[in-house]
Amino acid sequence: MALVFDNTYARLPELFFSRTPPHAPRAPELGVFNWPLARRLGLEAADEATLARWFSGAEPPPGAEPISQAYAGHQFGGFSILGDGRASLLGEVVAPDGRRFDIQLKGSGRTPFSRRGDGKAALGPMLREFLVSEAMQALGVATTRSLAVVATGEGVAREDMLPGAVLTRVASSHLRVGTFQYAQALRDREALSTLVEYALARHAPERAGAARPAPALFDHVMEKQIDLVAAWMRVGFIHGVMNTDNMAISGETIDYGPCAFLDDYHPLTVFSSIDERGRYAFANQPRIAAWNLARFAEALLPLFADEAQAAIDLAQQRIDAFEPRFRARWIAMMRGKLGLIEAREEDGALADDLLSWMADEGADYTNTFRALAEGETEGAPFDGEAARAWLTRWRARRAAQGRDDEAGALMRANNPVVIPRNHLVEAALKAASEAGDLAPFEALLRVLARPYEMREGLERFRAPPQPQERVRATFCGT
Ligand code: AMP
Ligand code: MG
Repeated sequence: MALVFDNTYARLPELFFSRTPPHAPRAPELGVFNWPLARRLGLEAADEATLARWFSGAEPPPGAEPISQAYAGHQFGGFSILGDGRASLLGEVVAPDGRRFDIQLKGSGRTPFSRRGDGKAALGPMLREFLVSEAMQALGVATTRSLAVVATGEGVAREDMLPGAVLTRVASSHLRVGTFQYAQALRDREALSTLVEYALARHAPERAGAARPAPALFDHVMEKQIDLVAAWMRVGFIHGVMNTDNMAISGETIDYGPCAFLDDYHPLTVFSSIDERGRYAFANQPRIAAWNLARFAEALLPLFADEAQAAIDLAQQRIDAFEPRFRARWIAMMRGKLGLIEAREEDGALADDLLSWMADEGADYTNTFRALAEGETEGAPFDGEAARAWLTRWRARRAAQGRDDEAGALMRANNPVVIPRNHLVEAALKAASEAGDLAPFEALLRVLARPYEMREGLERFRAPPQPQERVRATFCGT
């Protein structure tokens, strides 16, 4: 069995992409390869040298039609025309079950959209995306996947010279809010309309017959984004660069640059070194998703209604619905974390008050929730006055509900034991890029494949960082 390509994006109007072949490294070497994902895509076997050539740009696989996609985006609030500056979409593979996936190389050289960049990627950040995206998948969070990391054998000039690599990203598409902003910026209404219909057919075929495709697409994307950000908050994930070019309309997490997971809980936690004002802090993520969706609605506005004011009204109603819809979704998510089977009016306050004392105590986000799930509420962070008062309320709520086994299972399924803690990720990447040692990376990857399962030997992976191990800043993988 081989990869079956069917490249529909490359059939869109030419303004949406550029046919640029990827750079061909001379001595590509396979670093990591995701065989379970390859089989999911229909690839059963291939030797390492072939995989290294296919997934480095040296020799794209049969059926590939490499292009770089055009898009725009608001980055930290400012609008720019962007595009794939270091990525090459090989094409779309139709898996044996009929599902369609984009196969994209990242770090595969300069394109017409590279601006001042070199089009390259360093090994560390590509391994980071591989590890965190696969961990997110195992955590049950919608995400792009990682098929391979291939070392190029070439150096990449950053602050130091670093080993270069190419990541193969697999996504249900790479259509972003910024793709629609691009068509709107060109004032090409027909291209915009074509793109909307394309996106609807690809991501929400059940809505494809809608009389007005643009609002139908918007509604679909908003639902997906609400689910996604609630899922991030369930596992303590901070995306770090929620620019509109990094918001996929599929609702998959995309672009693992400076992302990080919470250790101790504080709502305004930021790791990204470039996010000086905390725009993309943990608890700001819902607000930013709504802001990005407002930009999406603006891009689609000419297609919302014939008359301008009617279009604005339709868009505004939808944006106004975000906040209450998100809050309801978030409370439902927190019910899962707290083992609450049926909804009660006071659940939102119960969740808010928990987070309030967790922030005051600097409680570890992951371990505190899992301790609640395991019924281990002795000692820190549960011994403060606010924590004890809260536990009393929660236990009363649980007692009134009964169904302990069901509630326990619900909590264990929603509160991971292990997450990709920043200090462990950094240590694994350091060993790989500085010493060529992939063993810590592979060990971490294996543990993160079963994040909800309590078992022997996890102490090292569960422990919050020691003060000297703490990662204070993460960097974009450019
Ligand atoms: P990101 O922050 O990774 O989402 O990237 C934002 C924009 O910068 C996108 O248009 C990327 O293609 C582009 N970009 C990032 N790194 C590079 C690079 N090394 N060379 C060229 N373009 C890049
Ligand atoms: Mg990006």
